[in-house]
Amino acid sequence: MRESGEPESGEPQSGEPDRWPGAGGPPFDPERFRREGRVVIDWIADYWASLPAHPVLPDVEPGEIAARLPAAAPETPESLAAVLGDLERIIVPGLTHWQHPGFFAYFPANASGPSILGELLSAGLGIQGMLWTTSPAATELEGIVVDWLRQLLGLPDRFGLGGDGGGMIQDSASSGLLCCLVAARERAAASGTGQCVVYASADAHSSVVKGAKIAGFPPAAIRRLDTDSAGRLRPDLLEATMRDDAAAGRVPCFVVATVGTTARGAIDPVAAIGTIARRYGTWLHVDAAWAGTAAICPELRPMIVDGVELADSWGTNPHKSMLVNFDCHCLWIASRHTLARALTTKPDYLRTAVGDTGAVVDYSDWQVPLGRRFRALKLWMVLRMIGGEALRQRVRDQVAWTAEFADFVAADPAFEILSPPSLALVTFALRAGDEATAELLARVNRAGSVFLSHARVGGRYAIRLAVGGTLTSRADVLGAWGVIAAAAGDPVLVSKARGRPAEER
Ligand SMILES: *Cc1c(COP(=O)(O)O)cnc(C)c1O
Repeated sequence: MRESGEPESGEPQSGEPDRWPGAGGPPFDPERFRREGRVVIDWIADYWASLPAHPVLPDVEPGEIAARLPAAAPETPESLAAVLGDLERIIVPGLTHWQHPGFFAYFPANASGPSILGELLSAGLGIQGMLWTTSPAATELEGIVVDWLRQLLGLPDRFGLGGDGGGMIQDSASSGLLCCLVAARERAAASGTGQCVVYASADAHSSVVKGAKIAGFPPAAIRRLDTDSAGRLRPDLLEATMRDDAAAGRVPCFVVATVGTTARGAIDPVAAIGTIARRYGTWLHVDAAWAGTAAICPELRPMIVDGVELADSWGTNPHKSMLVNFDCHCLWIASRHTLARALTTKPDYLRTAVGDTGAVVDYSDWQVPLGRRFRALKLWMVLRMIGGEALRQRVRDQVAWTAEFADFVAADPAFEILSPPSLALVTFALRAGDEATAELLARVNRAGSVFLSHARVGGRYAIRLAVGGTLTSRADVLGAWGVIAAAAGDPVLVSKARGRPAEER
């Protein structure tokens, strides 16, 4: 951060007084924007080109970045060059590089040229699409592209535009689930007065419990059911628990089936769960946040969408594995009126004549916030500029590379597979036990060229490899095994794998 008074305080090279308002410039000057926009686009292109050279994880102490930033905003404008300089010097070294080809942690949040450009266009247009009237094209484009995606995924027509259903884009799977939960409770309240109960497997995403808490469900009304040995929700246990709840006067209100659990990618038996849910009038929400993308491949689709015809809502995150940059959650519901009835609170100032006719969708009635970003643009651009064929090929490659990786792990006597590959996710451990595995993971991640995260699988500490990075190639996936095997054998090899002598680390 440059001190005021330093000679290079950010004046452009031309010497022109390149200032925003306060120093005389308008907040949007087309010529300045054109010039600076090019600089920023170039910066982003250079960043992506340089990614493999960065360590995936930053090497910073808590508070280190904050300490290098001024505690208060400047009173007078600074130049783009000054800000980009600080971005490079202070911010980038403190980043975890999610777009790095060696990023195998959590689930990917992959991005692509078209999606980044779509995001830029969305910001550039600066619209806010809370109501159909506040930008009809934003609402209508969203309806269309979400329906394109529905068709690519092979989801049923009842989630489509024609009937009672519909699809939308939200910020996150967590928000989508919360909205469905509130709608489910409202629907259940019509048929009973007992305590509403929520069901999910113990391996379901944390957003189930968080959503239930936000919605005001007491902890005793949130059932996290034991899974089978493959990490799947057990229909027999679900049925027995629902039966007990109903017998005690409680209302089985909402069940979450997870297609692709976070820990190990387990796929709950949605059809069996849906059949039970129907019996109790329970809302079935399918959380396919990560795995849903795989349904674009016809050969993978059956295991992803099995039972979907019984679902009241189904959500997936194109921002995980579908090259749409964060954030983009697509949610389909079987009854858009049920959702809208539960969430609508139209004060007079938000009512419109066309909205009152019911001829248009006001998407703000389907979500938590009032305001809405124009997220459909980036999904539109990805679907148009990358296309279904290439998206499918990426899924197939990632699944194949993950299987190859798993074969290496399985062939090494020091290791064991804890959960076999589920799509592009596999978990494994050292036979030597939890402590050795955790220590190995720390060593691997310290080495810098890859980043993997961990989970509990069957009570064991597991290393997770989740493949899906935009730049990640087969060589990167197999290279990750090289780094891991080396770290398991000899710490010195790790530094070699990174191309630097150990003393530099
Ligand atoms: C990632 C994930 C979520 C949460 O996603 P957000 O969009 O960040 O809320 C929920 N469920 C599953 C299965 C996930 O993989």
